[in-house]
Amino acid sequence: MSFAKARYVVWGVAVLLGFALVASRVFHAPLVGAATPFTSLPIVAPGSAAALASAAHGLDLSQLDPTCEPCKDFAQFADGGWLKANPIPARYPLWGRVFELRDTNTARLRTLIEAAAASPATGDARERQVGDYYAACMDTDTIDKLGITPIAAELARAAAVTPATLAVEVAHLHDMGIGSLFTLGSEPNPAGSAKAEILSMNQPPLTLPDKSYYVDPAKEKIRTSYLEHIAKMFALAGDDATLSATEAKSVLAFETTLAQNMRTPTELRDPITNTNVEPIAKAAASLPGFDFSAYLAARRIPSTGTIDVGQPAYFPALAQTLSTSSASDIATMLRWDVLSSDAATLAKPFDDESFHFFGTVLSGTVEQRPRAQRCVDAATRDLGDSVGIIYDRKYFTPKQRARAVAMIDTVKETLHDDLTTLPWMSPHTRAIAVQKLDLMAVKVGYPDHPRDYSNVTIGRDTYAANRVNAAIAAVRRRLNDLGKPLDRTRWNSPSPTVNAGYNPAANDITFYAGILQTPFFSDMFDDATNYGAIGIIMGHEMTHAFDDSGRHFDGYGALTDWWTAPDAKNFNARAACVSNQFDQFVIGDGVHANGPLELGEAIADLGGANLAYRAFERSQIGKPRRTIDGFTPEQRFFLGFATFQTEEDRLEYAKQRATSEPHPLGPFRINGALANMPEFARAFSCPIVSAMVRTGKNRCQIW
Ligand SMILES: [Zn+2]
Repeated sequence: MSFAKARYVVWGVAVLLGFALVASRVFHAPLVGAATPFTSLPIVAPGSAAALASAAHGLDLSQLDPTCEPCKDFAQFADGGWLKANPIPARYPLWGRVFELRDTNTARLRTLIEAAAASPATGDARERQVGDYYAACMDTDTIDKLGITPIAAELARAAAVTPATLAVEVAHLHDMGIGSLFTLGSEPNPAGSAKAEILSMNQPPLTLPDKSYYVDPAKEKIRTSYLEHIAKMFALAGDDATLSATEAKSVLAFETTLAQNMRTPTELRDPITNTNVEPIAKAAASLPGFDFSAYLAARRIPSTGTIDVGQPAYFPALAQTLSTSSASDIATMLRWDVLSSDAATLAKPFDDESFHFFGTVLSGTVEQRPRAQRCVDAATRDLGDSVGIIYDRKYFTPKQRARAVAMIDTVKETLHDDLTTLPWMSPHTRAIAVQKLDLMAVKVGYPDHPRDYSNVTIGRDTYAANRVNAAIAAVRRRLNDLGKPLDRTRWNSPSPTVNAGYNPAANDITFYAGILQTPFFSDMFDDATNYGAIGIIMGHEMTHAFDDSGRHFDGYGALTDWWTAPDAKNFNARAACVSNQFDQFVIGDGVHANGPLELGEAIADLGGANLAYRAFERSQIGKPRRTIDGFTPEQRFFLGFATFQTEEDRLEYAKQRATSEPHPLGPFRINGALANMPEFARAFSCPIVSAMVRTGKNRCQIW
């Protein structure tokens, strides 16, 4: 479980799947310039000599669907060939180039980690520890033999909870990273990252993907399956059938009461309403009947000072639920939190049942990922910087880093020019926006100061204990930040991560070594492909500093209103254009895309595409224009973006994303952003009346 909080979520560019994938969860300017017609595309077989030659420029022609007109549906034109040749694998709820690269990185790591696990005597201390962790995770004989044993003591503790011991038991669970009833940890100071970190408490993650799953009448069928899942898990843990069924009803009723008083993922995107700093004593008083000082003492946290209460209405409602629930219902809830928090570490029946519900029922996935892949991902989650060092040595070179840094510098200069010349912004707001960009730090590849895991006990045959030890260390590491300024050298995810991010508290962007790889980036690719693929992602992350959420933070990570009222009004009107545009996209089964939830990502895509296009033009000054494979540099730029966003989702999973996931579906991201760019229409000579051309007041334009 994660301690999700809008303030320090890093907004990545791609959908984050849980590590185990289960169990925890169209312009009004006249068309100018002649473009290459798209109708005479050469058809290239995958793997042919022509395809390989194209690959050197970063463009694989076999990914195209030449039967579709680019001005009608660019996503289908650009990615249709690849999607047809690469159906969604049985083990995934969605598939695309990002997910393919994640699989590639996992396979690379598997080879390296298996070597470390096979010869523990030869590696350094980090390799040895990663090897031991992986070996324990792969030792299913031992895991299956142990059954429920690894968590039996924790289940017994939770079962014995009384009103008098509740606060201490919740503290104990929180120390293990289990978000029972609420979450509490250290967060960057909302008054600025140079100030001391403060406590923060928030509504907890729910077992189902988001609030709607508990309250939406249309999701009743899923709730019925959820009841069956809970009962099955309790039965596997040793409870008889009648008791398990009663426990399942108790858990669903308890979670539903909590969910009714929680905010939706869309509401959690607003950093202002989710930041409420007050004295700890006041926060404690909002939770009557819960011994908050005993809770803090048990976690060794001082009870004086201030705390940021993310969702103030949640806590009195939680207190009310606790006061009207029986001791046995509360104990059952806590037992469920223990049992469900990491069922994937337990014996096969628990792992299988967990996959059945989260993988198949909720996401439509057909089969479980191979254990080895899941164990590599688990090691990457728990010992991330050590796994990162193993990856970086082989797959990330100083040359790659230098090219990426040079590209980011060019995109940043382009944004600087844009902010300086933007017609709709007043000089006051503009000055602070430019300052914010100038202060933005850039992290590329891997951290200079990797985390040390030498104090984390990892044994070769104690998988569940390894998981708990790593979780306890991670929770303690974050709590130790309390009272100190934000450590800006720290990275939020391990370097093999296929993602990038913007962190508003640190005002920095991060590009992990794992994403700076083919087919998105290579020092072999030409500028058109590199800027169209990873360059747009660079612009995307920078734009997050100025999206509907990020714009509320200044260059020092302080949540402060630096916008004049007319500028804010202008921004909101422009953002509403994007939100309305995305609301129109249809997912299926009558479900539409969710404009307000996806707004930040959609703004970042539109801003990123505009910035990267101008940065690309800037990079081409003085260079010869070459048409390759029948495509102009501009066309190849836009095809690069479509390569990055290649994606198809199973319907069940796409519908889940509509309420829980801020990243729009891949095809909507491609067509949504590019339809607002006259440069795209020009590159493909689109007629003015085309699906891919938005004109007049329909054209959305922010950055
Ligand atoms: Zn993003």
